[in-house]
Amino acid sequence: MMTQTTATAAQVIDHTDPDDVLKKALDLYGIMNQMDVAIEEMAELTQALIHYKRGRSANIAEEIADVYITMEQIAMYFDIKDEVAEFRKIKIKRLALTMIGKEGVST
Ligand SMILES: [Mg+2]
Repeated sequence: MMTQTTATAAQVIDHTDPDDVLKKALDLYGIMNQMDVAIEEMAELTQALIHYKRGRSANIAEEIADVYITMEQIAMYFDIKDEVAEFRKIKIKRLALTMIGKEGVST
């Protein structure tokens, strides 16, 4: 006798490749809509940072995650993930260079 099991939504999500989900979202909603979502999420992160500076509660981690997700989708759409990674490396090196001799300087 064969037994048939049905995966729950949580099980399906656990075994789903995050890149597949992002690709499906791009296909389903379209790049123009996902750019709008990215702009909204960046604004929400901006707001969270302002709230923090004013001593109010702020979901900074959640908003950073939202921005990451939307940035991943945009990079995926333009097929620039490697280029982004390379720019990141270069810019972090440049930042390290600008800090040489400036230890202890803080704003
Ligand atoms: Mg958000």
